[in-house]
Amino acid sequence: MTSLSSITSRSAVAPIPTGLLIGGQWRGAIGGKVFDVENPATGEVLAAVADAGPSDGDDALAAAVDARASWAATAPRYRSEILRRAYDLVMARQDWLAEVMTLEMGKPLAEAKGEVAYAAEFLRWFSEEAVRVCGDHGTTGDGANRIIVAREPVGPCVLITPWNFPLAMGTRKIAPAVAAGCTMVLKPAPQTPLSSLALAAILQESGLPAGVLNVVNTTDAATVVHRWMSSGKARKVSFTGSTGVGKLLLRQAAETVMRSSMELGGNAPFIVCADADIDAAVDGAMAAKMRNMGEACTAANRMYVHRDIAATFAERLASRMAALKVGNGLDDETDVGPLIDAAGRAKVHRLVDDALQRGATALTGGQLPEGPGYFYPPTVLVDVSVDSELMTTEVFGPVAPIIPFDDEDDVIDCANDTDWGLVGYLFTQDVDRAFDLSERLEVGMVGVNTGLVSNPAAPFGGVKQSGLGREGGRVGIDEFLEYKYLAVPRRKGR
Ligand code: NAP
Repeated sequence: MTSLSSITSRSAVAPIPTGLLIGGQWRGAIGGKVFDVENPATGEVLAAVADAGPSDGDDALAAAVDARASWAATAPRYRSEILRRAYDLVMARQDWLAEVMTLEMGKPLAEAKGEVAYAAEFLRWFSEEAVRVCGDHGTTGDGANRIIVAREPVGPCVLITPWNFPLAMGTRKIAPAVAAGCTMVLKPAPQTPLSSLALAAILQESGLPAGVLNVVNTTDAATVVHRWMSSGKARKVSFTGSTGVGKLLLRQAAETVMRSSMELGGNAPFIVCADADIDAAVDGAMAAKMRNMGEACTAANRMYVHRDIAATFAERLASRMAALKVGNGLDDETDVGPLIDAAGRAKVHRLVDDALQRGATALTGGQLPEGPGYFYPPTVLVDVSVDSELMTTEVFGPVAPIIPFDDEDDVIDCANDTDWGLVGYLFTQDVDRAFDLSERLEVGMVGVNTGLVSNPAAPFGGVKQSGLGREGGRVGIDEFLEYKYLAVPRRKGR
C-alpha cells in the first residue's frame, strides 16, 4: 500500500493500493514489475503501480472463474446493498477521489468532483436495478407447454476502460455486472490506474466478496487481454475506448463467441439552426466541447451553424473560449486542464495545423504553449475546409471547428456522413424541427437544446462504428444477463 499524501494537500487522503487485486488479495506483479503514473500538468511521477504480466492476468481470470458460481447464487438484495454502501463511501470521499483523479488525469477539480458524483450514481442506480431483474411467463401457441423465461448472469466478464473518465467508465461497467451476479477482471488504462484502484478498495470495504472484482493494471494489454479473450472461460467483454481497439477485441471475441458490449469513439455533429437561441447554443457548445478539455467521446467534433447566425455564434463562442483559464486542475481558477499526454497533444495540434494549412482561421487559440505539462489552448476555427482531417477524425481536444450551412437536408447529410454515430446535438426553438431532425440523425443519442446527454438513468451508447449495446438506464443490466427458457408441459386433459 502507498499513500499519495506527499503530493496531495487539500483533502484527507486514504491509502491507495498500488498492487493487483486478485482473489481478494492485493499483491505485486510476478517478477515485481511496476510502471510510473504521471501528472500530466507537471510531468511529476505520482506513484508506481504493479505492472501485470500474462501469468498475473491468468491468475486474475482464474479467481473470477472460481468465484462465479457462489457469487451468481447470492441474493439480489445482498448485491444491491454492497453497491449502495459503495455509493455512500464514494460520495463521502468525493473530494479525495476528485483530487486523485485530477492528479493523474488533469481535469479541473470541479469537473473531477462532478465525475465522482456521476460515477457514484451508477453504483446507486444499479443497486436499485439489482432487485428488479424480471423474467417472463407464457404458454406456447398450441397450449401444450408453459414458457418460463429466467435471467441469469452471463458469467466472468472482461472489462476494459479508458483514461478520460477513469472512475465513471469503471462504475458504468462494474455496477451492472455486480448487480447481475457476474464476476469480472478489470483492466484500467495505464495513464489513470489510481482511480480504479481506489474504487476497488472501496468496493472491498463495502463487502464485495473475494474474486468478484479482480483488477489488473498492465503495460502489456495486448497480451494479457488476448489470453482472457481466447481462454474460453470469460463469457463477456465490455470495452470502452477507441474504435480501432474495439474492432480488434470484436475479432478476438468471435473466436470464442463472447457476448460483446462496445462503447467506442464518436464524431459528434453539433447543429445550430437559424431559429436557435444563440446564447443557449453557445452555452451548449461550451458544455459539449469543453467538458474534459474536449477529451470525451461525446465531444462536439463538428459545429454546423446556419449561415445567417454563423458569424455571431463564432464570435460569441470565441470570446467565451478565450476567457477560459488554462492551468493545473488543482488550482481553483483553472477552467481547462492539460491533455492526457504528449501524444494526445501532438495529435490535436497536428489536426489544427492541417485545418490552418487548408485555409482555416483561428479566432482564438491554435498555438502550442511553452513549458511543462500537456496544455493546449481552447481554439475556435472558422473557414474550415471540409477536406480538413479534423472533420473525419475524433479531435479529443479543446478545438471547435465551425462550418456554416444553408439547407437542413444538406446539414443532415453532412452530419451523417461519418462511420461513427454516438451522439448529435441540435439547437432550434421549433419543436417539429427538433423531432424531425433528431429522427434523421444516425446516432444513439441526441442532445436537443443541451450540450450534455450523459446520465446514469439513460441508455448511453452509439450506432454504426460507435459501438454495440448500451450502458446505464433500464437496459444497462441486460448487457450482463442471459436468458434461459424452460419448456414445461402442461397437464393433459385440462
Ligand atoms: P484506447 O487506446 O482504445 O484504450 C482504451 C483501453 O483499451 C485502454 O485500457 C487500453 O490500454 C486498452 N487497450 C489498448 N489496446 C488494447 C489491446 N490490444 N487489447 C486490449 N486492450 C487494449 O482508447 P483511449 O485512448 O484510452 O480512450 C479514448 C477513446 O475512448 C476515444 O476514442 C473515445 O471516444 C473512446 N471513449 C468512448 C466512450 C463511449 O462511451 N463511447 C467513453 C469514453 C471514451 P493501453 O493504453 O495499455 O493499451
